[in-house]
Amino acid sequence: MGGDPRESGGARISKEGERGDLVPLAALIKEELRSERMERPSVRYGCAAQSKKGEDYFLMRTDCLRVPANPSTSFSVFAVLDGHNGNAAAIYTRDNLLNHVVGAIPRGLGREEWIQALPRALVAGFVKTDKEFQSRGQTSGTTATFVIIDGWTITVASVGDSRCILDAPGGIVSELTVDHRLEENIEERERVTASGGEVGRLSIVGGAEIGPLRCWPGGLCLSRSIGDVDVGEFIVPVPYVKQVKVSNAGGRLIIASDGIWDAVSSEMAAKSCRGLPAELAAKQVVKEALRTRGLKDDTTCIVVDIIPPDHSVPPPSPPKKMNKFKSFMLRKRSKDSANKLAKKLSAVGIVEELFEEGSAMLAERLGNDSLPGQTTSGLFTCAICQVDLAPSEGISVHAGSIFSTSAKPWEGPFLCSDCRNKKDAMEGKRPSGVKVL
Ligand SMILES: [Zn+2]
Repeated sequence: MGGDPRESGGARISKEGERGDLVPLAALIKEELRSERMERPSVRYGCAAQSKKGEDYFLMRTDCLRVPANPSTSFSVFAVLDGHNGNAAAIYTRDNLLNHVVGAIPRGLGREEWIQALPRALVAGFVKTDKEFQSRGQTSGTTATFVIIDGWTITVASVGDSRCILDAPGGIVSELTVDHRLEENIEERERVTASGGEVGRLSIVGGAEIGPLRCWPGGLCLSRSIGDVDVGEFIVPVPYVKQVKVSNAGGRLIIASDGIWDAVSSEMAAKSCRGLPAELAAKQVVKEALRTRGLKDDTTCIVVDIIPPDHSVPPPSPPKKMNKFKSFMLRKRSKDSANKLAKKLSAVGIVEELFEEGSAMLAERLGNDSLPGQTTSGLFTCAICQVDLAPSEGISVHAGSIFSTSAKPWEGPFLCSDCRNKKDAMEGKRPSGVKVL
């Protein structure tokens, strides 16, 4: 992974040593500021949408701060929320998910630790948002694809089928989400069935079956969502999370609702807008989808470009891992024939995968309490909703689970009894649908 050079003091000393003379402090600070600006890519974005049912929502923020009042700790957030059965869950998620994720990150972490803490905080934030929305007693549900960009690192968490793809330099398109659709996702079908749900198609009069696979009770085609208090609790809000680091050549993200993906493939979407600035690119992808399929569904598309500090100049001193890619790019220019192999090679070099996990089991997702910074308050706080727990109150996320043999049931993270109940319900240990109807 490699530490952020801005946060290691050692680099500065060796630099002075190389020069063999002392550099005035003011010059050092000036240089530090310049290199800080140089190191961080800029983010350009655009959004386009065509509404049919008015249930798609989105969020675009580039002004979030990891450390309050410190602009050098800024990060960006982009999200697509595709509601169903009403828009309340999508609106609630747009307005609350970010706070719930940030609230689950331990205080006082450095940048690297903060990035490492994101996958777990995203799980907590998604489940908390779902739990709070459900407690309001409103029906409706939503997909949520939530993207955090900090420097070159992209962290994506998602439930449902609002896909996020990465178009990396060299024409390599990769998906940063999985579609939680019962029709295509066999693993999810098995999980739902094992947790007490039934999977089947809609039967019409005469016994004929139509449409995509759905789970019952509820009849939802998705296996994960936020909200949906009136469907089985095996429809869980636990997100698939993927964290990657793009090379200093940058990359483009396309985040969109199924109005896009039902019409065009990931490759087609990426291809259709290459070379266009983000604002126009988003419009182009929507246009392409409408051209193919017409306006059948809410259609929302966000395009985010991660742009190297000065992309007219070749990226300075790439990290070791990128050398292969750099030399490969040089080769590609002179030798165009090895295109296919080239694509594969560059896929290895361009994007560094830092984290990937999609399990629906909270015990696996919340792990053991070993995060630095957790000691101050973490021990007696619910790992999901962050409420303070009395010493006797917390129930270990590992207690009574099949993981309790390997993990210690008296060790954290802990859940409040409410969140523990939710966990049991999601795993089919408590009859679903009990709460409502
Ligand atoms: Zn709780």
